[in-house]
Amino acid sequence: MNNPVIFCDFDGTVTEKDNIIAIMNRFAPEGWEELKEGVLNRSISIREGVGKMFSLLPVSLKEEIIEFALDHARIRSGFQEFLDFTKEEGIPVYIVSGGIDFFLEPIINKFGPFAGVYCNGSDFSQTTIKIEWPNSCDDQCSNDCGCCKPSIMRKLVQSDTYKIVIGDSVTDLEAAKQADYVFARDYLKIKCEEWAIPHTPFETFYDCIEALKTKTGVRG
Ligand code: MG
Ligand code: ZN
Repeated sequence: MNNPVIFCDFDGTVTEKDNIIAIMNRFAPEGWEELKEGVLNRSISIREGVGKMFSLLPVSLKEEIIEFALDHARIRSGFQEFLDFTKEEGIPVYIVSGGIDFFLEPIINKFGPFAGVYCNGSDFSQTTIKIEWPNSCDDQCSNDCGCCKPSIMRKLVQSDTYKIVIGDSVTDLEAAKQADYVFARDYLKIKCEEWAIPHTPFETFYDCIEALKTKTGVRG
């Protein structure tokens, strides 16, 4: 395992549940469920669905949404211990998330260190929340991801990088296909089995530490 780098999803991976869904459930702007259905049945892209969902919320809700996210985001156990372990081992950890900066950063800032945090942006200068997309797809991806995980990986790795992806959902699948190794739970685990992508199932970050210890041990 030369030059390992970890790309870790946020929603449903670092946190136990999806924060965008939790926020939408809580603030329930009219029309958001149709958008969610559209994303799930792939009639609209993630970028379009998430952008339109947030455009249903007035900017005045900003602080309330942050407070709600901080109160309700449950962190999967072992996360900080996992970061301590990877730091000791000299393995950089990037957070790569389809979440939005204004509620993701207050949650993630309590943990670390990270080599970088990639997510979507937000603009509160108008009447409703506008999502910005600083990490959109490169010319090798046409999924209109919003936050394009495979594109970010292509940007950050070198030819000898051993790419480890940690994730849970459909938005991690393209990244997992590019990875050398995957830690998967939930939907991503099923997809890894289907695609015969080498992976270890996990429920807590202690599982990831144990699996990494085995791998680094093999390296000697
Ligand atoms: Mg996820
Ligand atoms: Zn993409």
